[in-house]
Amino acid sequence: MDPKSVPRDGTYYSYSRYLEQIFGGKTYKIVVASGYTCPTRDGTLAQGGCAFCDVRGSSSFFGKKGRGSEIRAQIRSRLPAIQKRFNATHFLAYFQSYTNTYSDVEDLRQLYEAALEEPQIQGLCIGTRPDCLPDPVIALLEELAQRTYISLELGIQSFENPTLLWLTRGHDSQCSMEMLKKLQLQAPSVHVCAHLIFGAPTDSPQMAKNAASFLNQSGVRGAKLHQLMVLENTELARRWRQDPFPTLSLEEYADQVIEFIENLSPSIYIERLCATASHSDECLAPEWSRNRWEPHNRLRDRMKQKGCIQSIQIV
Ligand code: SF4
Repeated sequence: MDPKSVPRDGTYYSYSRYLEQIFGGKTYKIVVASGYTCPTRDGTLAQGGCAFCDVRGSSSFFGKKGRGSEIRAQIRSRLPAIQKRFNATHFLAYFQSYTNTYSDVEDLRQLYEAALEEPQIQGLCIGTRPDCLPDPVIALLEELAQRTYISLELGIQSFENPTLLWLTRGHDSQCSMEMLKKLQLQAPSVHVCAHLIFGAPTDSPQMAKNAASFLNQSGVRGAKLHQLMVLENTELARRWRQDPFPTLSLEEYADQVIEFIENLSPSIYIERLCATASHSDECLAPEWSRNRWEPHNRLRDRMKQKGCIQSIQIV
């Protein structure tokens, strides 16, 4: 895409604009649970999950039996309220929690097809890890993406190995870079969105700029940003209580985001600038993560003050 032709929402290419360009109307994601686990939870790489992750195990699980009908039931029970509340016209099924490609390819096919059978569902967003995409799964995603919208939310989190180690991710940056290359070659129709976390004490000063440069070469369509949060029931909470480590102030985080955006190709959309703790009382640090709109507004104000624009500084 010619970067000059990319419409802007103020200072950056927003996810809502990107969805509007594809679907031509207000598009919402309906969260559905696949019932899969993760290699950092089932003992394959680790137990207890990645150090920052508080995803709640049992609440979103269901048995494998009757999976197709279960997925359809989840969509049918959630869609009407979202449609009414947001006046949305287009819907995507969002496999958000856990590793949603962590099964054999035929099981995955059944799961994805079940969601796509729902008449109002116009595509899928699938959250996964870069080390859980074997070739047959990539081929399945490409096959589906040639007939419908498929977005892969890839948990890269960081391109820096000290941070990946500190987050107990169980994979390194080489793994992410190789997977991005592979997806570019073998699944060009899949819309890949890179999920990144800013603010680990192990991050280098060049982290945000370098992350943008990697993504510019990677073929991803989008990026989704998340500040490092210390949440109850995680390994980070245990470490933080034992020996508190620094987390970013809102201004420090905003400056990382600005650096990232200013170095990001204008053809890459940004799905989210910062996250909100879903259970504010369980967020130990940074405190500003407990609020939804105030951090977002202050972040936007700082971007405006600093004249931040998602520009073409690609070298
Ligand atoms: S961050 Fe993702 S891969 Fe890690 S434990 Fe949580 S859901 Fe699983």
